[in-house]
Amino acid sequence: MSVRSAPDVVVLDIGEIVIDETRVWTVWAELLGVSPATLMAVLGAAVSQGGDHTDAFPHVAPNVDWAALEGEHESRYGGFRAEDVYADVVPALSALRGAGRRVVLAGNQPARRTAQLHALGLPVDDLVTSDELGVEKPDPAFFAAVLARLGIDDPARVLYVGDRVDNDVLPAAAAGMATCWVTRGPWGQLQELPEDTEPDMVLEGLGELPELLDAWHAGVLDADVEAAAAADAKDDA
Ligand SMILES: [Mg+2]
Repeated sequence: MSVRSAPDVVVLDIGEIVIDETRVWTVWAELLGVSPATLMAVLGAAVSQGGDHTDAFPHVAPNVDWAALEGEHESRYGGFRAEDVYADVVPALSALRGAGRRVVLAGNQPARRTAQLHALGLPVDDLVTSDELGVEKPDPAFFAAVLARLGIDDPARVLYVGDRVDNDVLPAAAAGMATCWVTRGPWGQLQELPEDTEPDMVLEGLGELPELLDAWHAGVLDADVEAAAAADAKDDA
């Protein structure tokens, strides 16, 4: 029986894992001159077809040069706030660290979000953005850069937690990490796993994550005990 050891390092994506991005899209709806419900419905349709906001924005506001509004968006959005943090984040991260696990945030974000994340005072050991690493998910170099920053040689020690199949689950698994798919947010709700892909965990939120990792760890210990017992029994026979 071969059972992989439970990861001792948990690396979490930021958007829709730690940060509820509702305000991002609500501010965009204001700027594009449509209701939030309209923008979110069209964004969902785009995501379902493998697209993203760059497909949804021109659809709802064909005459608006949205790229020229990015500065105005940032100024109205104002960066991450405490109210944007999903309610299950602090309890889950605290429990993970309480169990002796290293907790790190690493996602596709502009570098200006780093100070905003630090200001939230989340219980993490480290946090880093794609901007700082100089490479974005799903590029394999992003995951290699995260491992290098953490000083970890064996990617199997890391559980990567993300909401997107394309940007998180598939490339993290390809990098040799264990994976946890959290099916929240537009992508988490709408993307589908390829048939041959099985994340180590699929969760609706972070609440159960600490317990499941504890159980994974205990299961490996139990399997070791059973294997040792079986070996003893064989020796006795
Ligand atoms: Mg995300």
